[in-house]
Amino acid sequence: MPARRDTGAKEGAGFSMAPDFELKSDNLVRVQHGNKEEDVLKTINSVLGPLSTDKLGATLTHEHVQGSCAGLPQVYPEFLGEDYMERIVSKLKETKDGGIDTLVDAGTFDLGRDARMLAEASRLSGMNIIAATGVGVGGVPPLLGTFDADQWAKVFVRELTVGMEGTDIKAGIIKTASDFGGVQPSMEIALRGMARAQIQTGVPMTLHSYAAGQVARQQIAILKEEGVAMDRVKIDHLLDTTDLEYITWIADQGCYLGMDRMPQDNFNPRKCVSLDGRINTLKALIDLGYTKSMCLSHDEAIVSSLIDTLPQWHRDQLHEINPHLFLFINKVVWPRLREMGVSEDTRHEIMVENPRRFFEGTPR
Ligand SMILES: [Zn+2]
Repeated sequence: MPARRDTGAKEGAGFSMAPDFELKSDNLVRVQHGNKEEDVLKTINSVLGPLSTDKLGATLTHEHVQGSCAGLPQVYPEFLGEDYMERIVSKLKETKDGGIDTLVDAGTFDLGRDARMLAEASRLSGMNIIAATGVGVGGVPPLLGTFDADQWAKVFVRELTVGMEGTDIKAGIIKTASDFGGVQPSMEIALRGMARAQIQTGVPMTLHSYAAGQVARQQIAILKEEGVAMDRVKIDHLLDTTDLEYITWIADQGCYLGMDRMPQDNFNPRKCVSLDGRINTLKALIDLGYTKSMCLSHDEAIVSSLIDTLPQWHRDQLHEINPHLFLFINKVVWPRLREMGVSEDTRHEIMVENPRRFFEGTPR
């Protein structure tokens, strides 16, 4: 059981401290692994409350139910379209019918997270949804000022153990992001706060990263300095590169590989790695023995203020590239991998067992 940490957070002017919290140590289960014992999380928090990890099933580990900006769904919901809730529920039902049981929503507060909407969407569709705490854009929005890492840790821990946005709906994963230009100074502070929240709660981290710039090297160095166990970390958007040396280096650190953006990066449809390139990378990693490191996802959104307001030709192009949204992997990628000789056991390992182990902290 992790010791409760004295964060020493300072009471900054105008900073309302989060309510105190108790660690969810009752969720930790001791398991024997080889000749040592490890604590694993057998119950995690979905937006509808505690969820046994045995119920996760086939899991997409980086998607967006709704993506916009902080406050938009609450203040200007008309920008999401009048029927946005119906669109969300019907797409989630279709995804569930297509063989997906759980969706990790990688939208943090600055990406317009709406905890009440996520809970309602989960309840109406039957899809398990895991929500994220943390900061999701490449740097901390400038008007947020200069809170320190311990102040950030305290609010992230509160979202993981007490609730988000004035509700008792809890986050179940910690999300952070760094992109072009690496880990910016303001994001480094928040990243260290997320690392401390990870250590206090045991909840895993999912990191938006910039593969072409090998930004994960910097993110991993900071997390190691903070003492985060690398098997609690997933580095995302790795299919944006075909550099197997870089990808396997990340796996060899102990991290999970977020093999998402399938079929592509939506905003660079012509510049990024092709679908064939992405599928070949998956196959190469399976052949190299990295099956147990990979989690698959699309990084798509059902409702998105960014995508929904693109010119029609661009939206048509995106729809043509991915007409299946959250079912592209099931409908296109797995059949292709099967033709290449990948077994059903491997599919099950990647879609079901790896996400479960990632959330539990179960050794591979
Ligand atoms: Zn994303």
